[in-house]
Amino acid sequence: MDFGIAGKKAIVGGASAGLGKACAISLAREGVDVTIVARTRANIEAAAEEIRTATGVKVTPVAVDITTDEGRAEVLKACPEPDILINNSGGPPTGNFRDWDRDAWIAALNGNMLGAIFFIKDTVDGMISRKFGRIVNITSSAVKAPISILGLSNGARSGLTGFVAGVAREVAKHNVTINNLLPGDFDTERHQSNTRALAKKQNRPYEEMRAIRTGLVAAGRFGEPVELGNYCAYLCSTQASFITGQNLLIDGGKYPGTF
Ligand code: NAP
Repeated sequence: MDFGIAGKKAIVGGASAGLGKACAISLAREGVDVTIVARTRANIEAAAEEIRTATGVKVTPVAVDITTDEGRAEVLKACPEPDILINNSGGPPTGNFRDWDRDAWIAALNGNMLGAIFFIKDTVDGMISRKFGRIVNITSSAVKAPISILGLSNGARSGLTGFVAGVAREVAKHNVTINNLLPGDFDTERHQSNTRALAKKQNRPYEEMRAIRTGLVAAGRFGEPVELGNYCAYLCSTQASFITGQNLLIDGGKYPGTF
């Protein structure tokens, strides 16, 4: 299937590793020019070179914190008229809700709710005027099935989800879609460090904790980042113009509910 997005321009957050990098690669394979963002300059430049070599598209690395106003302004300087926006950054730390003070909550809200909301605000009107836009927010399966040690994530991402539910309906008639992708367990650095935290909390070896987590996934394995990247690229395709305002789980069947 030709996704019909060759030549479009995308901004992809958190893209030197893990899920964000996978989204950037899948979009680049469709011929999309990508502006990719992470805080660590050496890593984002290495990812840019890798994607450029593999796909031949224009890849622009930007080394900033995408959750800050200054960081997003830098990104928009590099890509002022994006057709596609993939909102993604690191997740908040794990922990116990009794230890989280106001500063911890504000940091989580900035990182996993407000940053994405402001980026949508900054880009959506341009998409409306060009009559094409695709916004995908990488959130978490924790939005549907909360994980107690990830309370900061459960709360902040649910706020983003509520905002998106409203605004997606407002902009749909302009061929601008906004969807949330909810990853379950994907084998990334972030996932491995969460497994380490759980292992420590339960006083188990890392490998045992990893096996326990794998056993909870109906597919019997963790997801590969490319599987999420390809789903994301499809949501950005011309074919996906009738899908909007949705919370789309990609979790190998781990979520046990019928709906
Ligand atoms: P990861 O492997 O840790 O990669 C995170 C990427 O984002 C890196 O490139 C990192 O580079 C960049 N990044 C982090 N904070 C940033 C910031 N403030 N500004 C710009 N770039 C930033 O994480 P991942 O597993 O791909 O997860 C991506 C998102 O999906 C996270 O929000 C995570 O909570 C969520 N998620 C993941 C899973 C999973 O199974 N992996 C499941 C549910 C939800 P720098 O550190 O250099 O900035």
